[in-house]
Amino acid sequence: MISASTMDATTVTSWMTAIAAEVSANRDYLIQLDAAIGDGDHGSNMTRGFEAVVGALATENDAPPGKLLIAAGKTLVSSVGGASGPLWGTAMRRAGRALGENQTFDARALGDALQAALDGVVELGAASEGDKTMVDALAPAVRAYKDALAGGSRTVTAVGEAAAAAEEGMRATVPMQAKKGRASYLGERSIGHQDPGATSAALILRALERTLSEQG
Ligand code: ADP
Ligand code: MG
Repeated sequence: MISASTMDATTVTSWMTAIAAEVSANRDYLIQLDAAIGDGDHGSNMTRGFEAVVGALATENDAPPGKLLIAAGKTLVSSVGGASGPLWGTAMRRAGRALGENQTFDARALGDALQAALDGVVELGAASEGDKTMVDALAPAVRAYKDALAGGSRTVTAVGEAAAAAEEGMRATVPMQAKKGRASYLGERSIGHQDPGATSAALILRALERTLSEQG
């Protein structure tokens, strides 16, 4: 049976609030991961960015979910200096554009939005799977979501599958050599460390699962 659950603007604001809480709780962990193969700012970038998103969305009244995601994306671009700002900014804006002007969206539209987010990240950052970036978490997550939906899972279950696939992808970055971003400057010395961006991507998907399970 295809899930009939409907999502709306509240889903988006609750998701952004859940992301802010999740990245803030993992701020030091993300900083440690980035300190090993980058410049140690990923935890503060993500926390600052999503706290700014929560603030920005609080001033948006009656906006449809797509508009909220576009506003979130713009806020991330303007508030985060690191690579993750434009990358997640593009992801959120593309997801928002995919949802369009509708006041509600269903499981299939969420899949299209997740795919659009991934496509935006790949277009901007030109990373392929295996390059040790957030794409190593996001790409398997989008596949897992669509597979679960096609198999008849409820939306929240499909998002849970997506988050699990993102976590698996995140762990799989450990033995990879970075080919994109700051970590690529380290060459072989990037091997043996988990990618910070893949880690926050997994947190972002878990935050969506939590949001949907709380919405019931
Ligand atoms: P910066 O590298 O500018 O300090 P962050 O530390 O906030 O920015 O983010 C680093 C993360 O960004 C990396 O762990 C990686 O997952 C992701 N990233 C970097 N470059 C790319 C890229 N070209 N494509 C996709 N993701 C990337
Ligand atoms: Mg960094």
